[in-house]
Amino acid sequence: MQKKLSSNLTLFFNNHFPYNSYKKSKKTSTVYIGIGGNIGNVKQRFDKLFLALQKDKRFDIVKTSPLLKNPPFGYLAQDYFLNGLMVLKTNLTPINFLNEMQRYENRFGRKRSFKDAPRTLDIDIIFYDKLKINRPRLTIPHPSWKNRESITIPLKFLSTLQIDIFFDQVNF
Ligand code: ADP
Ligand code: MG
Repeated sequence: MQKKLSSNLTLFFNNHFPYNSYKKSKKTSTVYIGIGGNIGNVKQRFDKLFLALQKDKRFDIVKTSPLLKNPPFGYLAQDYFLNGLMVLKTNLTPINFLNEMQRYENRFGRKRSFKDAPRTLDIDIIFYDKLKINRPRLTIPHPSWKNRESITIPLKFLSTLQIDIFFDQVNF
């Protein structure tokens, strides 16, 4: 199923996006990750990532957003992106969590060439509980989340059951 939001934004709904787990997780931290890609069959890659994370004992998937097809920014001579959000529970520290997400990026064929280049899979940490981190390798909350439709629109479509962290970041 798909819903056109505007001339250049379309939302896609499939079996893993959006998703809601009603099982309570015992893991301590709640992490919002943004996933994105614009090379090859991105929907299929996201499904594979979902299944791999579901199998991985270090993570519990709480929920996911629908997927947003949206234009590239920065480097414009490339395909539209597909983006979504996943909310995970974990006991990993932020740096270990980043390391593991970078391993998943590599496993799904990520190559780093130049800034804003096309990519098979990008995983960004948007929020990690209510932590604020400013280190060379890791800035949390993600510095530009408020300005990116690829993050704000999927956030709006996440179920409202668990948006406490999101609301904490917003000045009403
Ligand atoms: P981008 O996502 O900005 O297009 P990359 O995915 O290549 O670019 O990430 C570049 C670097 O950004 C990573 O090596 C990582 O150390 C750093 N980084 C800083 N903050 C974050 C964050 N919140 N989530 C993911 N990576 C981050
Ligand atoms: Mg990234």
